[in-house]
Amino acid sequence: EVLIEARGVHKTYANGVVALADVSLSVARGEVICIVGPSGSGKSTLLRTLNALEPISAGEIRVLGEAVHDRHTDLNRLRARVGMVFQSFNLFPHRTVLENLMLAPRIVGGLSEAEAEARARALLDKVGLAGKHDQYPSQLSGGQQQRVAIARALAMNPQIMLFDEPTSALDPEKVGEVLDVMKALAAEGMTMCVVTHEMGFARAVASRVVFMDAGRICHVDAPERFFNGA
Ligand code: ADP
Ligand code: ADP
Repeated sequence: EVLIEARGVHKTYANGVVALADVSLSVARGEVICIVGPSGSGKSTLLRTLNALEPISAGEIRVLGEAVHDRHTDLNRLRARVGMVFQSFNLFPHRTVLENLMLAPRIVGGLSEAEAEARARALLDKVGLAGKHDQYPSQLSGGQQQRVAIARALAMNPQIMLFDEPTSALDPEKVGEVLDVMKALAAEGMTMCVVTHEMGFARAVASRVVFMDAGRICHVDAPERFFNGA
């Protein structure tokens, strides 16, 4: 079952930079796609086009059966089903950890207070932060904040998770705890697209590695072949 289908995607920014040139990619349920490549090659742009954070100039993207860039598509509904995690955590700073997790399920998902809280607590437990529910983001380490961000994305029960360099802003000793949460998610069968420089993670977890250069996908391979240079 194909969950993400990008066909002939082009993206030119207003300043004339061609960020994506004829990108096509198909992702099946349960796959973990790692997107790698040099800085400026279009990785982040590609990821952001998948949930319409970035408009495209040409081509078509279907996610969970919806035409992402069709103006009739309900983007709030789509984004509820596609969780996203950013390099810079993006937590609500004036909300506690528990409140960060409860907000979208309450407001967008229509869950009751009790339902949202139960779900939030279960997710905090899952990412190893059960004791931190009353803390504010600034009281947590970067690794802990990113695990909260992952839990928050999961709180809407997404079908797909998108990660944009989720460990790039972390101190090196905090990277492992975030990758471990992502590995556990992958092992549960979550469909994931991960922009990353963590080659060890890609080798261990990816179904396929997508290599980008200058706005194009220049190579796609199984990780064992990719890393052996075959
Ligand atoms: P990567 O994630 O591989 O580093 P990006 O997708 O961030 O690449 O960027 C691809 C190209 O598009 C780069 O040349 C970058 O400078 C440019 N770019 C990214 N975002 C914007 C933007 N909002 N406006 C103009 N150019 C942008
Ligand atoms: P990253 O590559 O880590 O995602 P960047 O530093 O490339 O982050 O970009 C940070 C922000 O600036 C992003 O929102 C991106 O869209 C924007 N940006 C990147 N390159 C350009 C550019 N050449 N012109 C305008 N905005 C840009």
